[in-house]
Amino acid sequence: MASFICDRCGKCCVSLGRSIIIERQFSDRDYYCRSTIDNIVFSARVDPAFEAEIADEFLMQGDAPAGTPPKACPFLRNVPGGDTSVCAIYATRPKICQSFRCYRMIILDRGGNTCGRVIGRNTLRTDDPALENLWDAQVVPIPCGDPVEWTGRVAAILADHGYRAEPVQ
Ligand code: SF4
Ligand code: SF4
Repeated sequence: MASFICDRCGKCCVSLGRSIIIERQFSDRDYYCRSTIDNIVFSARVDPAFEAEIADEFLMQGDAPAGTPPKACPFLRNVPGGDTSVCAIYATRPKICQSFRCYRMIILDRGGNTCGRVIGRNTLRTDDPALENLWDAQVVPIPCGDPVEWTGRVAAILADHGYRAEPVQ
């Protein structure tokens, strides 16, 4: 088993829309919030680098006109000077965010380098054309019904071609 590593790209945070609502501020950096997906209330502590902009966001959230389409989570922030995003409450983000896994398996090449990730039922993300061809020809046709059986069959096929499959936890 490999450990899941989040590279903090922020794609899942955007795709969920405004899944986190800030309900109340109780100090300069601390907020009561609600996760709308599981309806769980949690307290969040904002990274000092984002203290001012989150406070502004909280003040403005009540001004949005009715019917305004949901935006991303209010704690998803652009890194200054870069094109990446970061969670402003990463250490205190809600359980639903902590437990989210955007891929369920990594694939390693002969050198032990990660060369592919499996997302969803059986979708492969890779830059390795040989792996992609192998996947399309031999893995995609395997029924996805039993995940344990599927993982075993896929691992065996990959091993025959010099790859190693590691489910993530
Ligand atoms: S869980 Fe995945 S999609 Fe979400 S921020 Fe981390 S790497 Fe990106
Ligand atoms: S709390 Fe953090 S991890 Fe969760 S959706 Fe918002 S930005 Fe993403």
